[in-house]
Amino acid sequence: MHILIIEDEAKTAAYLHKGLTEQGFVVDLAYDGQNGLFMAQQGNYDLIILDIMLPKLDGWRVIQQFRLSDRKVPVIFLSARDTIEDRVKGLEQGADDYLVKPFAFSELLARIRSLLRRGHVQQAETLNIVDLEIDYLKHKVARAGKTIDLTPKEFALLSLLARRKGEVLSRTLIAEQVWDMNFDSDTNIIDVAIRRLRQKIDHQHAVKLIHTVRGVGYFLDERDE
Ligand code: CA
Repeated sequence: MHILIIEDEAKTAAYLHKGLTEQGFVVDLAYDGQNGLFMAQQGNYDLIILDIMLPKLDGWRVIQQFRLSDRKVPVIFLSARDTIEDRVKGLEQGADDYLVKPFAFSELLARIRSLLRRGHVQQAETLNIVDLEIDYLKHKVARAGKTIDLTPKEFALLSLLARRKGEVLSRTLIAEQVWDMNFDSDTNIIDVAIRRLRQKIDHQHAVKLIHTVRGVGYFLDERDE
């Protein structure tokens, strides 16, 4: 498996290179956006890890240009920019995942494996799970053809659960991804948000999509509890 890392911080790049090589990946490095884009277009990569703040060409431009010609190779944004707007923008522009620095290497590895396992992910502009439809470009959610109004946080929460369908996500991970909160923060906010999301997504439907694993976290899937 061949991975391209586009990252200008030498320390982070070296750390990623070492860690991923140890895991058996073949890793190439690019230290600026221009060179990174060139390598991405020329090379035959299975996955690309892309920083946002880059010299010459920023990560937004890189993915825009790259997606013009390639809709399939999974791209993970890796950035210190942690606002919800940045994340949504990243996903809208065709990233498959968005990880905020600082991150745990094990977390990155899990995401890489998950993306590679799915194979070359269809560039999800819409995602359908049973009768739930999420349109990432228009920011619309519908179930059984009926539009559901979600707040931006609820949309981010649902998107996270849906993109990682079947995977149990801990409150900690959800807090980090959707609320930019740390491990020790009050995670009650997540339970409350999940409850609201359930009201909107599942309440009126026989097939429940959002499930709880007691003491562990939540997952979204069509299977029964
Ligand atoms: Ca950077």
